[in-house]
Amino acid sequence: MKLANLDVAGKRLIAVVDTGAERYWPVHDLVPDFQGDMVQLVHKFGQLYRDLRPRGPGTPLAAAKVLAPIDQPRRNLFCVGKNYYEHAAEFQNSGFDSSAKNGEHAPEAPVIFTKPASTVIGPGGKIPGHTGVTSQLDYEAELGVVIGKGGRGIKKADAMNHVFGYTVINDITARDLQKLHRQWFLGKSLDGFCPMGPYVVTADEVDGQNIDIKCWVNGELRQNSNTSKLIFNIPTLIETLSAGIELQPGDVIATGTPAGVGIGFNPPKFLQRGDLIRIEIQNVGVLENEVGE
Ligand code: MG
Repeated sequence: MKLANLDVAGKRLIAVVDTGAERYWPVHDLVPDFQGDMVQLVHKFGQLYRDLRPRGPGTPLAAAKVLAPIDQPRRNLFCVGKNYYEHAAEFQNSGFDSSAKNGEHAPEAPVIFTKPASTVIGPGGKIPGHTGVTSQLDYEAELGVVIGKGGRGIKKADAMNHVFGYTVINDITARDLQKLHRQWFLGKSLDGFCPMGPYVVTADEVDGQNIDIKCWVNGELRQNSNTSKLIFNIPTLIETLSAGIELQPGDVIATGTPAGVGIGFNPPKFLQRGDLIRIEIQNVGVLENEVGE
């Protein structure tokens, strides 16, 4: 099932989407007493999913604006750095990684940081250039994991039962701030630095542990990998995070980016105003955003 967060004539609603037919069905039509947002739907999904089968012809998707599926996360987005070997190497070699040990090729444990909820923007939303703050804007295509069933102390063997679904994330980064401030938070957290969407695809439709992930900038293929190449896979990330932090329904984990980011090139290819970033994750969706002012 694909779920979307839509703006229809100024009103926000959650909908079941058929991307082939390009139509949607508002959840509040299928389940009349439901008025919540995506996080609230994730909370209640176990009770509601039988009622979410589309009935009737639906409404053309073209009439709606697709927002980020979880545009109001209840807390920071969990993110993972240096989680593909080739990207860990390109980052180490770039000179921008002030967190690496000398000669380190890959981290010995997951590198976890967060982005605040205020970074989230939707498909087609302009990525602010923040030209007075950074001159080294970069992109990072990532699979976003949406947590369904919460919990603490989740073990790897059970972890995939806690995955609600998947979305596409662009972990926009100001490399100069990331390097200067050592801790990554500031360089990862400027307003608009987390394009997300277009949909949440439920876990029964996608094998999140083996799907292609690609990113183009202005039509040039920059990143091309598969989530099977994650250094720390999804169960390991969930076990690590939940060991001492209770995961909650609707939490989002950005799982890390493969090689081919701007600083992987020599000289680096930083984003400029007007650049179009297109991220495609197999069976999950296509996320496109342009760099604005
Ligand atoms: Mg990242």
